[in-house]
Amino acid sequence: MTICRLCGSPDLAGVVDLGATPPCELFLTADRLDEPEPTYPLHLRVCSRCWLAQLPPLITPEETFTEYAYFSSYSNSWVEHARAFVVGAGLRPDAFVVEVASNDGYLLQHVVERGVRCLGIEPSANVGRAAAAKGVPTLTEFLSPEVGARVRAEHGPADLVVANNVYAHIPDVVGFTKGLRALVADDGRVSIEVQHLLTLMELNQYDTIYHEHFQYYTVASAQRALASGGLHLVDVELLPTHGGSIRLWAQPEEAPVSARVVEVLAREKAAGLHELSGYRDFAARVAKVRRDLLRFLIDAADAGRTVVGYGAPGKGNTLLNHCGIRPDLLAYTVDRNPYKHGRFTPGSRIPIHEPERIAADRPDYVLVLPWNLREELVEQLSYVREWGGRLVFPIPSLEVVA
Ligand SMILES: [Zn+2]
Repeated sequence: MTICRLCGSPDLAGVVDLGATPPCELFLTADRLDEPEPTYPLHLRVCSRCWLAQLPPLITPEETFTEYAYFSSYSNSWVEHARAFVVGAGLRPDAFVVEVASNDGYLLQHVVERGVRCLGIEPSANVGRAAAAKGVPTLTEFLSPEVGARVRAEHGPADLVVANNVYAHIPDVVGFTKGLRALVADDGRVSIEVQHLLTLMELNQYDTIYHEHFQYYTVASAQRALASGGLHLVDVELLPTHGGSIRLWAQPEEAPVSARVVEVLAREKAAGLHELSGYRDFAARVAKVRRDLLRFLIDAADAGRTVVGYGAPGKGNTLLNHCGIRPDLLAYTVDRNPYKHGRFTPGSRIPIHEPERIAADRPDYVLVLPWNLREELVEQLSYVREWGGRLVFPIPSLEVVA
């Protein structure tokens, strides 16, 4: 990488280098285990002019998202989160809602239920088909300024444009933001949910760094990114999703920022994230998470205890590969998504089974990879206690839950 993708500065400082790993959503089928697996460096850097944290665009979204394994509706709490958002949005009956990266219709299905006109824009044909089956009109496209203008011409400007969990996934952040601007009415609003770099740094969430996430936002850098496409940040909400996210409210019309924006900017500044100091000790904290987890897994193996995983999220693969965990330390993992059953985690090549396997095998420990769903999973996996099994959370720091 030579220059910052947002401001063009050549002044990029290293934050953490996680080695080289395969793209985290490329789960392997058994017949591909004997084939070479390309890996790409995973080195997070931050721009010391605009403070956008970023990875070089080594893979293209087209490689990842044309046949995507992630179906949002497999998480109960995420579907409920989307329902609450739609209820709270106060949509007029004649409104038009566009969601970019609408996935399997987890959010727009609630808009359709209210009889409000909507359109999903989703690049992955397989998840888009699942949305269409729910009655959610879906266009198979990546958002660009041209696609935004075409949708506006065909369907009219949108009163509300939603873009959840996609603003990190697009290397052309300026083009994407211009696409959002093209979609939204001049008096409309844009709502974007994206992981917050402040919680990533504070809570050691380094496993959320992977090639598919090209950038990591503070509210300060998001404000600059939005402005690059002609949108003004007006409000921000802090959300617990993905371990700590921000919901940015932006609009074409200029307006003063809310008190909440001022407050979050002040917190980021106090954490040192608007200068280099806040980024300096992150790599050392990441190294400690790795040592603690490896020590636990090696001790468990030496003591003859069985450890299996729960979940096969993309972030799990950053953790497994960075730590060098292989099936000798983690026999298998399980996932609710049938797409992943019978496949293997990229790089670490840990087999993925159905969740029922845990109750059948009664392991001593279950390492929970989607730690962001902790509350939901502690309840869902309460049956593990029946045989004295324990849940293990690797992040923010190793914790074995009785
Ligand atoms: Zn920059």
